[in-house]
Amino acid sequence: MSERMPAIFFGHGNPLNALARNDWTRAWAAVGATIPRPRAVLCVSAHWYLPATFVTAQASPRTIHDFGGFPRELFEFQYPAPGSPALARRVQELLAPLAVGLDHRWGLDHGAWSVLCHVFPEADVPVVQLSIDETRAPSFHYELGLSLAPLRDEGVLVMGSGNVVHNLHAYAWGRHPAEPLDWAVRFESRARELLEAGEHEPLVNYESLGRDAALSAPTPDHYLPLVYVMGASRAGEPVTFPVEGVDGGSVSMLSVRFG
Ligand code: ZN
Repeated sequence: MSERMPAIFFGHGNPLNALARNDWTRAWAAVGATIPRPRAVLCVSAHWYLPATFVTAQASPRTIHDFGGFPRELFEFQYPAPGSPALARRVQELLAPLAVGLDHRWGLDHGAWSVLCHVFPEADVPVVQLSIDETRAPSFHYELGLSLAPLRDEGVLVMGSGNVVHNLHAYAWGRHPAEPLDWAVRFESRARELLEAGEHEPLVNYESLGRDAALSAPTPDHYLPLVYVMGASRAGEPVTFPVEGVDGGSVSMLSVRFG
């Protein structure tokens, strides 16, 4: 049995981070350099959000450029990490009796590769993505995280990629740096306190946390990857925040590491 891998949520923010070298990308690289080398990564990305649960099953997943309005250099970016059909089948097994489809059309979206290109720059760790079923309540996603926790003892890095605070209506496009907005700071602080206290229930039911939560997670897609990672954590294990900061006033770059 391998050493237990951490479970890590990454705030990915702007796709241009893939090409950048900044405090966030250096912190991502430091995570990759200091954790035990995983056998594979299982990534739950905000950007694979559809009405079903699928897992990527290609041996060589393609790099998907799932955005518009960015420079050509970003559209030409490739992250040629292998897939792992064996891990895809293991995920199916762990989530049974839930029907998890084996997907051969998706690949790696920028939620995965814009971060992983810094964490594992050699693209030599196999990556499998798990979709987020948009029709399900947050508690369903937490339960899936719980079911995936054994992967951590099988050398798999369980990774979420989204943003604890993600409000693009309030984002200061092209006006960097912008001061973090009050509600963003309050919600992020509240989330950190609850994570450190091991109080997951209010974070799973984040919609009950009031106006700050509604502004911070106006849609569930970027928040739910954190719920998977919380589900994959073990009671009492250390919680740390290897990356911090708020981009453009309304996108939290907070990373959350369990174990
Ligand atoms: Zn995103």
